[in-house]
Amino acid sequence: MTCQEAIKKEKDGCKEEETVSYDAGWQTRGSGRNYASLSGHGSMIGVTTGKVLAYAVRCKKCKQCDQDITNDTTSSHDCRKNWSGSSKSMEPDIAVEMLHNLKEKGFHVKDLVMDNDTTTISKARSSFDPNINKFSDFNHTKKNFTNKRNSS
Ligand SMILES: [Zn+2]
Repeated sequence: MTCQEAIKKEKDGCKEEETVSYDAGWQTRGSGRNYASLSGHGSMIGVTTGKVLAYAVRCKKCKQCDQDITNDTTSSHDCRKNWSGSSKSMEPDIAVEMLHNLKEKGFHVKDLVMDNDTTTISKARSSFDPNINKFSDFNHTKKNFTNKRNSS
């Protein structure tokens, strides 16, 4: 199922309250004290369908750039590097990008279920919708979603 199809399903099943769960994770290089996140990814999951509605990635590193360090790194390769900010600021950036993407597809997120991350929700309010609600627990969500979440 594509994201577009998942969005349509979510809208069909959930007419009044448009709630998604936001989840983000990082790939870290855990050697010694170097825990710098090299890439981050996030996804938004519709609580009605449990389907992924949107996802996005941020990469601070590109293998090809590293290998061709003497060459022009802006050249024609499929560059993976799309983030030069701090690892910490990736998560709110990804969240806001996906909120805007979903809105463009006709899905205006009103409730966000996510970890207790004040940076992300404050950015969502300032850059997307000042009235967006945040839920830090999964109890208010539909049962099938809660079960799915707990079993993973
Ligand atoms: Zn590159």
